[in-house]
Amino acid sequence: MLHCETPIGIDPTNGTARQYDTKDDIPDDHVAVVVDVHSREAAAVYDWKTGSQFSSFSYAPQVKLNGYAVAALLGVEDVESGLAYVSAHGITAKSWLLDAFDLARQRQQLRLWAAQAPTAEPTPCAACKWCPARAICPAMVDKEAKWTA
Ligand code: SF4
Repeated sequence: MLHCETPIGIDPTNGTARQYDTKDDIPDDHVAVVVDVHSREAAAVYDWKTGSQFSSFSYAPQVKLNGYAVAALLGVEDVESGLAYVSAHGITAKSWLLDAFDLARQRQQLRLWAAQAPTAEPTPCAACKWCPARAICPAMVDKEAKWTA
């Protein structure tokens, strides 16, 4: 069975994850992830993409974060995480298997990001449009203040 648009909040202090009813219910001090589609039986998660699969944009951070979120939610040590490109010709997918070592590295990364967050100076980029931290991101607050000044 496939689950779509699942809001998952990760507590960066202990690496645990749980599902929430909506993205807005995820506590502010958690890492918020909304995974496009995942299967609990297969321990697999995919993000839909409509752009070119040959784009030079790196989706590695998203693939790792999606994989970690679903692995932590399900309590598994291996997870398949991938990108599913949708076009008029059908769906082409590519995926990576994240093992216990990959997940441990990602958990460490989340703890690091949480420690750095209070003094972070984020750099706006193309991903801002979809970023779950947009509402609280200092770069966005400054930008919106400039636009309305
Ligand atoms: S909204 Fe902020 S945190 Fe999100 S991608 Fe843009 S600059 Fe980075």
